Amino acid sequence: MIVMKFGGTSVGDGEAIKRAVDIVIKTLKDKGQVVVVVSAMSGVTDTLLSAAASAAQGDAEAFRQARWHLSDRHRQAMTELISHEETRLQLMEEIEQLLTNFENLCQSIYILGELTARGSDAVASLGERMMARIFAAALRDRGERATAVEATEVIVTNGHHGSATPLMDVTREAVQAHILPLLAEGVTPVVTGFIAATKEGVTTTLGRGGSDYTAAILGACLDSDEVWIWTDVDGVMTADPRVVPEARTLSQISYAEAAELSFFGAKVLHPKTILPAVEQGIPLRILNTFNPSHPGTLIVAEPKPSELTVKGITSIKGLSLITVEGRGMLGVPGIAARVFTAVAQEGISVLMISQSSSEQNICFVIRQEAVERALKALESAFELELARRNVDRIWAQDNVAIIAVVGAGMKGTPGIAAKVFGALGKHGINIISIAQGSSEYNISFVVDEEDMESAVRYIHQEFELERGEC
Ligand code: ASP
Ligand code: MG
Repeated sequence: MIVMKFGGTSVGDGEAIKRAVDIVIKTLKDKGQVVVVVSAMSGVTDTLLSAAASAAQGDAEAFRQARWHLSDRHRQAMTELISHEETRLQLMEEIEQLLTNFENLCQSIYILGELTARGSDAVASLGERMMARIFAAALRDRGERATAVEATEVIVTNGHHGSATPLMDVTREAVQAHILPLLAEGVTPVVTGFIAATKEGVTTTLGRGGSDYTAAILGACLDSDEVWIWTDVDGVMTADPRVVPEARTLSQISYAEAAELSFFGAKVLHPKTILPAVEQGIPLRILNTFNPSHPGTLIVAEPKPSELTVKGITSIKGLSLITVEGRGMLGVPGIAARVFTAVAQEGISVLMISQSSSEQNICFVIRQEAVERALKALESAFELELARRNVDRIWAQDNVAIIAVVGAGMKGTPGIAAKVFGALGKHGINIISIAQGSSEYNISFVVDEEDMESAVRYIHQEFELERGEC
C-alpha cells in the first residue's frame, strides 16, 4: 500500500489534476492499494486566509470577490475533468455550498471585526475540502472507485489551532476504522490534507504546508509500504539549481540528512511533518508530477552506502550576526542562558550559535528583520554588565548568509572541513563565523551575503557533487 500526497501545484489546474489522476491509476495497477492525500489548489489557502483577514479589518468586498475567483477556478477544473454532465453539475453544486460556507464565515468575521484562530482554521480548511471532492470525482470519471474522505473524521488533534498536534493513538484507531474498509472494498480514499479536528469535532489545521504531515500520519497509522510526496521538483538536490546549474537530484538520503537540509531552507520535507513516518521507519519518496518517470529522492533511515560524504549544500540569506562581547564574561556562568532567554522572550528564533572557548564573545545568527528587537532586548538584559564594562559591546553585522554543508558521511571522516574551507580560501572568500554540531552531519558557517552564491558553487565543485553517486 502506498500513501501519496499531491501538493498545490500538482493539483493547480485541470491539466495538473489529470496528470495526478494518471499517476494514481498507474500506481493502483502496480501496487494494488493507494491512499491519496490532496492539498488545496496552489494559492487557494492564501486567498482564503487573506480574504478572512480583510473581513476582520472591515472589508466587506474582498471575500465576495475571492468567492467568485475561487468558484471560477474550481469550475474551470471540473469542466476539464468531469465528462458526465449531470455528475459535473452535482459536484459544482457541492463546491458552491462550500464556497457559500466560506462567504458566511467571512460575513460573521466581518461583523465581529475579529478573526480567531478557530475561525481561521475553519476558513483555511475549505481549499482541501473542495479539492478532495474534485479529485475523487475525477478518479471516478476515469472508471475508478474513489471517495472523498474528510480528515476531520480520522485525524484527531489537540486544540492548538493553526498548528495542531495529532493524538496518535486515537488517530490510528479512527484511520484504520475508516480507511481500511474502503481499501478492502477496492475504493480509493482521497483524503483532505492539512486539516483535522479535535475530539469535540472542531476543525483544526496542522500548520502551513501541513498536507505532508497528513500523508506521514496516514502512512504511519496504516503501516503503508512507502509515503510518496508528489511535488514540482525532481527530489532533493545537491544545491539550489538556480545557484548551481549543475546541481543534481540525490537518489537517497537519510531522515537525519533531510532534516538538516530542510532546516537550512532546501526544498525538503519539514522534519516535524515526517516524524510519524520516521518513527515507524516508513520510507518517503519525493517525486515530480511534471516529470513522473524520474525516480526522485528516497528518504530512509539507513540509505545505501554512498561515496558522497557531503550530500548537499544549502544556504539562507537576509540574516544578521549578533555578537555579545566582553572580557568580563570569562568564566561567569549564566551569560549564554541570559542571552538566549532575552532573545527567546522576544519570540526570535536563532539559526546558528558559536562561542569561542576563550568565552569572550558569544555570537549567533537571526533573521535581519528581528535585529532591532534583539539588540534592544539584550541591551536591557545586560544593562548592569554594560555599565560595569563586564560586557563591552553588543552589536550586529547585517547582510550575512549561513551556508550549511550536510552529509552523514562527514561523521568521523577527517579532512572535510579542511576541504570546505580550503575551497573558500583558494577563492578569497572570507568566513565570518563557524559552527559544527556534534552529530557531525552539518558544518555551518557565516559569510557575507554577497559571497554566498559563489561560495556554494565553489564547494559544490570541490566535492564534485555534479558527478553523481555510482
Ligand atoms: N494548503 C495548505 C497550505 O497551503 C497545506 C498544504 O498545501 O500542504 O499551507
Ligand atoms: Mg500549499
